[in-house]
Amino acid sequence: MLRIDEKLQPILHDVIKRNAGEPEFHQAVTEVLESLGRVIAKRPHYIDNALIQRLCEPERQIIFRVPWVDDSGNVQINRGFRVQFNSALGPYKGGIRFHPSVNVGIIKFLGFEQTFKNALTGMPIGGGKGGTDFNPRGRSNGEVMRFCQSFMTELHRHLGEYTDVPAGDIGVGGREIGYMFGQYKRLTNRYEAGVLTGKALFHGGSRARTEATGYGATYFVERMLATRNLSFDGKRVTVSGSGNVAVYTMEKIIEFGGIIAACSDSNGYVVDEDGIDLDLVKEIKEVRRERISEYVSLKGGRSHYVEGGSIWDVPCDIAMPSATQNELTGRDASLLIENGVVAVGEGANMPSTPDAVRLFQEAGILFAPGKAANAGGVATSALEMQQNASRDSWSFQQTEARLAAIMHDIHDRCAETAEEYGAPSDYVLGANIAGFVRVAEAMDALGVI
Ligand code: GLU
Repeated sequence: MLRIDEKLQPILHDVIKRNAGEPEFHQAVTEVLESLGRVIAKRPHYIDNALIQRLCEPERQIIFRVPWVDDSGNVQINRGFRVQFNSALGPYKGGIRFHPSVNVGIIKFLGFEQTFKNALTGMPIGGGKGGTDFNPRGRSNGEVMRFCQSFMTELHRHLGEYTDVPAGDIGVGGREIGYMFGQYKRLTNRYEAGVLTGKALFHGGSRARTEATGYGATYFVERMLATRNLSFDGKRVTVSGSGNVAVYTMEKIIEFGGIIAACSDSNGYVVDEDGIDLDLVKEIKEVRRERISEYVSLKGGRSHYVEGGSIWDVPCDIAMPSATQNELTGRDASLLIENGVVAVGEGANMPSTPDAVRLFQEAGILFAPGKAANAGGVATSALEMQQNASRDSWSFQQTEARLAAIMHDIHDRCAETAEEYGAPSDYVLGANIAGFVRVAEAMDALGVI
């Protein structure tokens, strides 16, 4: 709080008061406001016309009941959310999360982050996020399908290719997008491919979308390392999580010559002294849909599994937290610093706690915040929307080349903005200011809305 400009403090107080019991949302807003002091010194009218207050208030929040019938014939009820945060730059855009921890505060924090992230891509997309407290773990394919259909039965009336375009997030992959797209098509009688992204190729999906967040995060960190004449080559990298983001981060790092020291799922982590065997991880997670603990019995060698505990106890040169919010704490950051980490790239949304971010920055470690580093997923979603609008389908190579160029641009814009505002190499400040300015200018030009 002390690090926040005094003109911005009442705004934060107000956000906290109006959104009681939503600590993740407070955390995300606090971090952005901490960066904006230097902007309002140059552009005081953003205070006068309440632009920042407007930016902290979602344009629309939808909360709905999702009833469905499980395999035993019992009626189950979950809660669905869609927070349409900001549409100054384009239709609301952002994923849908299926996880028992989901509540309105989590979706609001994600929608807020998404607004800046999407602005950083330079593409015409606003920010939004959705989700539900439905837990897909242990549910049959039929249960997941009926859930998705019920979820979309309410959500569809709030969507549209010019209105709001969801995609996947934690717990939502190609299968769930397929079921939701099927229900949308049925309810509206429109084959409106541009209403959802992350679709299968035969429904108008984009090549490289599955890989995009992980590949993009790796491109970003590679460019950041290059500013200090470093690279992934020969480095030991820890990647937490075992969803799409983590798997394709590992794939690109290996292509760049890095060695994966450890990987994890929500139960525990695996260390392999010979470097994690990615084919085996893919087999376990994508084909068998099992827990990462299986790795050791299948691989053997110099691998071991640790149940629970923190993956950040494993010494590494580069850390890529790619699981979920607040997974890397101040204690973890201190240990990583002690063990000689040189760079951290956030593949997940807000995976480092504020303490951890502060410690990395004070230690002069290169730190890439999620809203910049993991923007490759949503950027490729915007490329999917482009392909849908023109009824075209690009090659993998062409799409990946666009993704790489976008990530390099985001990196350079963050680095240049940090420099311009007197904080070289501060990617947190650079990302927050560059994202904010683009949204703020677009809002300002629309009048008070
Ligand atoms: N859920 C992803 C994110 O956090 C992707 C969103 C999208 O593609 O719309 O950015």
